[in-house]
Amino acid sequence: MGEHSAYYVPEDQESVIGKSDEIRMRFWDLGVFLDCMDEPIASRLAEARKTGVSLPEWKHDFGFGGMGIQESEVDLPVPELPYDAQCPHCGAEVFRDLADTWYGSEEIDESPDLAAAITCSSCQKQFSVDEMKCPEQGFAHARWYLWVSDIDPDDYDRSFKQTIEAIVGPCKEVFGWDT
Ligand SMILES: [Zn+2]
Repeated sequence: MGEHSAYYVPEDQESVIGKSDEIRMRFWDLGVFLDCMDEPIASRLAEARKTGVSLPEWKHDFGFGGMGIQESEVDLPVPELPYDAQCPHCGAEVFRDLADTWYGSEEIDESPDLAAAITCSSCQKQFSVDEMKCPEQGFAHARWYLWVSDIDPDDYDRSFKQTIEAIVGPCKEVFGWDT
C-alpha cells in the first residue's frame, strides 16, 4: 500500500518565494498548521498548549499525515517521482527513462536537472519535462509548493484547494504516490 500526497503549486511563484513564514501565519488563522514541527508554528502550538488558549478551527474534515511548505533555490519536480509519466510521442511509460536522466546513480535528494532532454527508450525520441504527460497524477515543477502527505484519496476534501488559493492565489493541483 503506497502513500498518497497532494501538492499545490502557485501559478505566481514570485508572490510566494521568500514569504513562507508570513504565509504559514496566514494559514494559522484558518486553522491550517503548516510545518508544525518547525518554527514559527511549533512555538505557537506549544504556547497555546501551555496557556490553554483555543486554536483557530479549520473547516475541513479529512485525514492526512502532515502539511508543509517546500521552498527551494532551484526548480524541483512535483511530485518528486512522477510514476505515471508517459512519452508525448508514443505514449510509452517513461518513468525509468526520466529517473535515469534526473537522478542517474545519485541519491534522490540531489536536485535533478529538469532542463535536460529525456529520451524515450521505446521510440528513441526526445522530449522536455514540460512535454511529458502525467495523465493520472499531473505534474509540475517549481521552487515553492505546499504539500499534504498521507491522504486517503477516497476521503480527501477537494475543496481544500480553495482554502489554499484564498491565500496563495491560483494553484495547480498535483497528486503523488510513493511506497
Ligand atoms: Zn516514446
